Amino acid sequence: MKFSGLFMAVATLALVGCQTRSTAPADMVMRNGQVYTVDGQDSVQQAIAVAGGKIVYVGNDAGVSSYVGQQTQVIDLAGRMLMPGFIDAHMHPGDGGRALTLCDLKYQPLTRPMFQAAIQACLDASADKGPDVWLEVGSWDRMAMVGLDGDPDKSTLDALDTKRPIQVRSSDFHTVLSNSRGLALAGVDRHTANPADGKFVRDKAGNPTGICEDGAANMVASVVPPVTDAQKLKQIRAALDAMREQGITSFMDAYSGAENGKAFTTLQHSGELTARALLAIRLDPHAAAADPVKTIAGVKSLAAAYDQGETKVTPGVSLRHVKLFMDGIINAPADTGALLTPYLHNAGSDTAPEWTPGKNLGELYFPRQVLDPLLLQAARAGLDPHLHATGERAVREALNSLQYVRQQLPGNAFRPAIAHAETVDPADYPRFKALDVTATMSLQWAQQSPSVLDSTGDHLGPERLERMEPFGSIHNAGGRIAYGSDWPVDPLDPFLALKVGVTRSGDPLNPHSFGPEYAGKLNAEPALSRAEVIRAITFNAAQQLNLDKVLGSLEVGKFADLIVLDKNFMQVPEQELARNQVLMTVVGGQVVWRKEHASGLDPKGLSRAALAP
Ligand SMILES: [Zn+2]
Repeated sequence: MKFSGLFMAVATLALVGCQTRSTAPADMVMRNGQVYTVDGQDSVQQAIAVAGGKIVYVGNDAGVSSYVGQQTQVIDLAGRMLMPGFIDAHMHPGDGGRALTLCDLKYQPLTRPMFQAAIQACLDASADKGPDVWLEVGSWDRMAMVGLDGDPDKSTLDALDTKRPIQVRSSDFHTVLSNSRGLALAGVDRHTANPADGKFVRDKAGNPTGICEDGAANMVASVVPPVTDAQKLKQIRAALDAMREQGITSFMDAYSGAENGKAFTTLQHSGELTARALLAIRLDPHAAAADPVKTIAGVKSLAAAYDQGETKVTPGVSLRHVKLFMDGIINAPADTGALLTPYLHNAGSDTAPEWTPGKNLGELYFPRQVLDPLLLQAARAGLDPHLHATGERAVREALNSLQYVRQQLPGNAFRPAIAHAETVDPADYPRFKALDVTATMSLQWAQQSPSVLDSTGDHLGPERLERMEPFGSIHNAGGRIAYGSDWPVDPLDPFLALKVGVTRSGDPLNPHSFGPEYAGKLNAEPALSRAEVIRAITFNAAQQLNLDKVLGSLEVGKFADLIVLDKNFMQVPEQELARNQVLMTVVGGQVVWRKEHASGLDPKGLSRAALAP
C-alpha cells in the first residue's frame, strides 16, 4: 500500500492515451470541474482521482473514467473550482479555540461605556462563579478603542459590579488589561520590575495602570489557573471545527507548547484531528541568553514526546519549528515594534497635532549576541526558526542573524521564516530571496482600518505608512510569500485575506473589514495576482513548513488535501473575491467537512460508479 501512489503514477504514464481497464479503481473521483492544481504551470484540469488518500490522477474527464469502479465515490463538481487545501502557516489554534469559548468582544470597535457594558453582561451571565474566579475576556480591539475613546485602565474595569479578578486580552495578544483585583492577585504593584520582554504601563507615581504589554501581559495571564484537559479539548475541537469550515487542511501553531501538543495528540488518537498540526515552540530570550544549547535541548525533548515523524496520509502532529518574538508590534499605542528611526509623537495638541520624532525605537527582544548562537543551535538540531518581526529593525536583525547561520552552515537545508514583516527597509526586500527566507504575511493587514489610519500611521509617519505590508515588493524582489492568518489576532477569514492580497483594500460588505469609509487602498505598495495569493496559501506555505513534497499542489503522488469552492476565485469580479466559501474539505482523501445543501455534494447526491466503464 505504501507505494500505491507511485505505482499509479507509473501506470498512468505508461498507459496514457489508452482506455485502460487495468487501472485499479480509485476511492474517489471528482470530475466536471475546474481543478486548479498549483503545479509548476498553475494548470487547470477537469478531474482528479484519489486512492489510499493520495492523488492518483489529475487530468480530463475522459482520462479519469478508467479510475471509476463499483466502489468509487464519484462527485460531479458541476463546473466548480477545486484546489489544494488551504495551509495556514501562522495561526494560534489554542487561543483561537479558546477565544470562541471566552467572554468574546468579537473584534468590535467599542467606546469605554460599550466595553464596560459587554463585560458586565458576561459577569451577569456567569453570576454563579465565586468572587475569586477570573473573568477572561478576549478579542478586544484595543486600537479601535484608542481611536474612539482613548486607552482604558484598571479603573474602567474597577467600576464594574463585581469582586472578581478580570483580565482582558487585546485581539493582537500583545496587551492585557487587568482590574485592581487582578493586579493584586498577580502580585503586581509599583515595586514590580518590568520583564525583559515587556512592560507595565505606569502613572506618574509609578503605579501600574492595568495595561500590561507583551512579557508583562504574559506575567498577569499566567496567574489564571490552567484549563482542565477536558476544557482544553473542547477549545481545540472548536478550533478544528472552524478550520474545516474554512478549508484549512494544515496549520502551524505559532506559539505552541506541551499543552497543545497533548491535546492535538489526543484528538489524533481519537480520529478527530482533521487538519495537519505543526507546532512551533516559543523560545524565551532570557533562557536563550543564559544557555542556547539547553534551550534547544528543551525543544528537542518536547519533540521526542509529540513529533510523529514523517508526514503521513492521515493527519498527524509535527514538532519541528521554534518561534521567536524579535519585537512587539508597530501598532499604536503599543509602539513596541523595533524600528530603525524613532516613532513619532505628538508634540502639539489633540486639535493641532505636531507629529515629530521622539526617542522610542521600539523593543528588540533578541539581540544579535543571543540570536546568532540560538539560531545556529536550532538549525543544527533540525528545527526551523519562525521569527516574529513587525518593525524594520527587527526584520533586519533577523535577516542578519539568518545570514550568519547560512554562512556557518553552508548546505544546511533549514527553512527559516519571518512572520508579519509589516515594515521592511527597501534595502532588505531582496534579502528574503538571497537568504531563502519565507515572508509569512497576514495579507488582510493591507486593508485600511481605523487603527492604522487614525493612530498607527501618525506614530509611524507618512513615509513608513506608504510602505507598510510590503508583500508585493518582497515578491517582486524574488521572495517567497506564504499566508498566515494570525487567528485569533484577526478573525479566521481566508477569502478576505486573499482579496486584500490582490486589491490591497477591504470589502465594505465584510464584517471583518471597516465599512465604506475605509474601502480605499492602504497605500501604493504593489499587490499580488490571484494566482500568487493562491500559491501563498498553498504551495508556498507548504514549502515554508517543509510539506511541499507531499502537499501544496494537486499532482499525482501527493496527498489528497483539497477543497471545493462555491465560486471560481480566478474568475469572479474583483469586488466579490472575499465573498466566497468552501463547500467541501478533504484531508488525506477523507471528506472532513461538507456544507449542507451544497447541490451535488451532499452524501445522498453522490453516485457510486455512475461512470463505471
Ligand atoms: Zn502570531
